[in-house]
Amino acid sequence: MTVHSPAHANAKMTMETEVLALRRRLAKAHRILTAGGIWPLTKGHVSARIPGTEKVLILGHIHSEGRSLIDTDVDDIVTVDIDGKWLEGRIEPVDERFLHLEIMKARPEVTSIVHAHPTYATAFGIAGVNILPVGNRGGIFAPQVPILDFDRQIDTPERGQMARDAIGDSVALVLKNHGVAVCGDSIENATIATFALEETAQLHWIAAQVGPVQKISTGEVRSVLTGARKEEFYSHVWGHYAQLDPWHERKSSRRGGSGSAGGGAPPQQ
Ligand SMILES: [Zn+2]
Repeated sequence: MTVHSPAHANAKMTMETEVLALRRRLAKAHRILTAGGIWPLTKGHVSARIPGTEKVLILGHIHSEGRSLIDTDVDDIVTVDIDGKWLEGRIEPVDERFLHLEIMKARPEVTSIVHAHPTYATAFGIAGVNILPVGNRGGIFAPQVPILDFDRQIDTPERGQMARDAIGDSVALVLKNHGVAVCGDSIENATIATFALEETAQLHWIAAQVGPVQKISTGEVRSVLTGARKEEFYSHVWGHYAQLDPWHERKSSRRGGSGSAGGGAPPQQ
């Protein structure tokens, strides 16, 4: 017999509140990536693990409703298990969920993944050239961004495993003639790293027009990955990206405004 104690009910409530908060952050990430132009035709998706479970939140197939991701809301986020089975939500999950799930299975530290089709990063995959760590935002991609030499949709577990093998322990992967997958230890960090990847690819391309491309130094890479620069790389820039959200409320004035701007540091996942 199951005993429903008040403590049990409280724990369930807490879990539901936590999951709702995650869904809100995930919906927001979709709006921000759309507003930032990171997925032409607004196609792409972001996922997040539900902590302490084998479940993952991911976008529902709202593209089939002719919707733009600029209006992604909590109802558009659905729950799947780690093998891709649709558990909850009003619309079936995106077909390419296996790209997210197979990488998450192999890498416990990855709690969120962005799949997008940004122009410059994707172009490197088409040319078969690895994006190098260059510029202020490239350090996290050292020594280089791997490329998966396969141009079909990642819509089966087997294809997800190919992506998992190709990305190894890198932050990002370029899918040839398709797009990218970018990992993070929070929804916000995966979002930030996706913008950083596209900025790095642009910078690499521009530098290559001028002369030989030189990577940033090993010492700089180390400080971005492990030192105080890591904070600088991630949470210090979230406010910049958060204000891209069309639902972002602005303060009415710098002093004494009554609005509640949502551009502060992201809650940690
Ligand atoms: Zn895709």
